[in-house]
Formats: sequence, structure tokens, C-alpha cells
Amino acid sequence: MPEPTIYDISVPGRKGVTFPEPDVPQTALPEGFIREKLPLPEVSELEVVRHFTHISQNNYAIDLGFYPLGSCTMKYNPKINEAVSRLSGFGATHPLQPIESVQGNLYLMYAVQEMLKEIAGFAGVTLMPAAGAHGELTGTLIISKYHRDRGDHQRTRMLIPDSAHGTNPASSAMLGFDIVPLPSDENGNVDIEALKALCDDKLAGLMLTNPNTLGLFDENVVEVIKLVHESGGLVYGDGANMNALLGVFRPGDIGIDILHFNIHKTFSTPHGGGGPGSGPVAVAEHLVEYLPDPVVGIIEEGDSETAPLYGFIHPTKTIGRVKTFYGHFGILVRAFTYISMLGKEGLRDVAEKAVLNANYLQEKLKGTYTLPYDRHCMHEFVLEGFWKDVPGVHALDIAKRLMDYNFHPPTNYFPLIVHEALMIEPTETKALETHDRFADAMLKIAEEGHTNPELLHEAPHNTPVRRCDELKAAKDLVFCCYPGDDWTG
Ligand SMILES: *Cc1c(COP(=O)(O)O)cnc(C)c1O
Repeated sequence: MPEPTIYDISVPGRKGVTFPEPDVPQTALPEGFIREKLPLPEVSELEVVRHFTHISQNNYAIDLGFYPLGSCTMKYNPKINEAVSRLSGFGATHPLQPIESVQGNLYLMYAVQEMLKEIAGFAGVTLMPAAGAHGELTGTLIISKYHRDRGDHQRTRMLIPDSAHGTNPASSAMLGFDIVPLPSDENGNVDIEALKALCDDKLAGLMLTNPNTLGLFDENVVEVIKLVHESGGLVYGDGANMNALLGVFRPGDIGIDILHFNIHKTFSTPHGGGGPGSGPVAVAEHLVEYLPDPVVGIIEEGDSETAPLYGFIHPTKTIGRVKTFYGHFGILVRAFTYISMLGKEGLRDVAEKAVLNANYLQEKLKGTYTLPYDRHCMHEFVLEGFWKDVPGVHALDIAKRLMDYNFHPPTNYFPLIVHEALMIEPTETKALETHDRFADAMLKIAEEGHTNPELLHEAPHNTPVRRCDELKAAKDLVFCCYPGDDWTG
């Protein structure tokens, strides 16, 4: 029998809260502001609590189990980050307060800028962008203004390797760049010959996801940067995969001009429900004056007696503002906490374990699943989610069957250059035993796929919601707000 919904248990007149008798005269609400048809359930407080607790249990979360969603870096988010971000000095300040009254907050933002500069090897950072893709938009705005300021109006071409994240071409296209895809070579690196053919005075830049979406570090990266720079273009680094590089490699050191971070991924803040995120952008020396306005800086040096005064500085060739106020401050507090707790050695340890874990799983699964680019991976790897001898089974079936084993599925059908892709990113925060359990489930599913493919086709079997009919969902979309409501008119 299905669980009764909160509407089924509604009893006319039942209340969750009883208000005291008002001691002021009651007034009618203004005409036209009350919806005629709003059948709210009438239930007790306990029933409301149970309703929402049940709903929360239908969700899967990193706090419940393994979440190897490739490209998304679903690592554990330490609870201390949450506690610190809720301190009233951080959580209850207003962005328009006079700077003298928020020196601690400004110091924190300044410190995060300095940390990110140090981690990735850059000269300047903006904290304003709201997420990774927004960072890309900010970075490509900088590329565009840089060329225009030099009178290079013909530079309209943006090169995007086919192993890039999908947001890269989307961000460039929003600015009107001509997007030219670059093929990968047989090792999963940028194809150098194809790049050479496109390096001329039309080149605005190249956006490089490195490690790329195959989970591979581009072995040609130095040559790629050299070729782009020689023809006057800029190199944008998609740094969403910094989790693989922390403390080991700094993109700024090899000449990347601009890079965004995905704070919510690499520096551990809860994400996946659509935000809030944070996508700071770092730039090399020659682009510091193009950063969005303002940037946090020291506006009055301190001495042995007084602390410096933090405030806002205004880059001279700025692309302008990209966000109201100064970015998602609460996320920056979490990042500050996380980075401070780990320190330099701890960050390096994060990257080393993230890479080790991914390689461990890759070794256990390759053979049973085809590994199209058979190299050491970085923090994630991509398998083919099908077998030639059971043509009816797809990556989607494998992903759905994993849910029956209580694992979140990997990313599937991305990147597009791998047929039936399953993209697996374990992150550094899981125990060896968890990896073994996951690998066992994947191997078991491969066996089931061969002996009982129906089991996979019909999966998931144990979840609160079974597999939806995606075709019907797309073609026969029904919006509803509450039972009985007719939205079709
Ligand atoms: C997640 C991701 C992005 C986009 O970041 P959002 O914060 O989701 O906008 C861009 N590039 C790569 C490689 C990513 O993994």
C-alpha cells in the first residue's frame, strides 16, 4: 500500500500551531491577494515534521553513501565549515555595512584571494562569480576586452577541445565568440597538428579543461600554451578539476592566463541542488587590471600597532561588475575554514588521495568494463558502459542498477567522446572498504548484465521512485502544484 500523503491525512480544522487571542483589532487582507483555491493540508506539527523527514529520506546524499558523480567532486563537506559560516559575525552582516564595521569579513575575503593565488600560481583573483560557468563567462569577458583594448577586433575564434566541459563552449558562445572544436589525439590529449592549423591572427583564445573530462592530464599542455601565445591568443584554464592538482601543480606556473576555481567542488561546500556555488577567477599579471570591480585589497597599510585597513580597490581596465555585491560570501567562509584546517600539506594530501583512489578503482574495473584511454588517470576516469556481447544493455541501465546497491550512479553519457560513458570520481574522502564495495557492485552488475539483462533494464527496484519513462516525461509534461489542481488551462 502506498504511504498516505499529507493530503490524505488532512483533517478539517486540525492545526499545527495555536496562536494566542490577538490583542489588536483584526483587519481583512486586501482584496485580490487571497487565492480562491489553495487547499492546504490541515495537520498537526508532528505530522508536518514526519512529512518533511520522510521526504528527506527519499533523497540520496553524500552524508548517506558513496557518490562517485564524475566531474562534480562530491566529497564530504566537513561540518565545521557549516558551524563557522553560521557565526553571527559572518552570517548576519550586511553587504552595505561601512567597511570599518566588517574588517573581519574583508580580511577573510582578502585571505581567500591570497590562498587561491598561492594554490594556483596567479597574480590576481576575483571572488565575485557565483559558480564555475559564471567564472568562465567572467574569464571570457576578460579575453574579449583584452583583445579589444589592443585593437585586435578580428580575434573572434575560441578553440575548445572536444574533451572540454560543456560549459566552456556555452560560455564563449554567450559572448559571441566563434567556437571551433579541437579533436583529441589517440591518447586523449589535444591534437597538436589540428591546433597548429588554427593558430593565426583570428585566434582569441583556447579554453583548456585540465585534467580534461576524460580524467587525463594533457601531456601536450606546454606545447598548447606556447602555440596559442605565439599567435597572440590567451589560454583559459578550466580549474574545476583542481582537486587533482592541489599542492602538486600550479597552472599559473606554465603560463595559463586565466583560471576559474569551483570552490563548491574543490573546497568542499554542499552542492548538487543548484547552488549556491562560488567560482572565483584568477589571472596572470598582465590581466590583473581587467578583473571585475571591485576587488578586496589593503587600502591603508598597518604597522606594529595597528592592523591594515581592508577595503575595495578598483581595477583600471575592469570588465565591470559580474554580480551584485561581492560574491557568495558564505561559501567563501567555508572555503577559508577548509583550506585553513588542511594547510599546505593537507591540500597536497587531498590531491594525492583523490588520484590514488581513482586509479585504484580504474584498475579494479578495467577489463570488465572497457577503458578507452588506458593511462594512469587523475581524480576521475571514464569507462564504456556497455558490452559488445549484450547489445541491449546501456550505461543508463548500469547506472540505475547501482542505485539498488545503494550507490549514487556515476555521471553517464558525458563526455560525449566516449561511447556510453560512465564517468567515475571517487574523491579523497572515502575509505578503502567503500571503494571495494563499489567495485564489487560494479563487477556484480556486469555479471547480471550478461546473465539477466532484464534485471538491469528494470532497475532501480528498491528506490522510492522507480525508473521514469523519459520519453513520456519529455513529451507529456505535467506541471502540478498540489493534487487536484488543474494547470492545463
Ligand atoms: C562543474 C564543472 C564546470 C561548471 O561549474 P558550475 O559550478 O557547475 O557552473 C565547468 N567545468 C568543469 C570541468 C566542471 O567539472
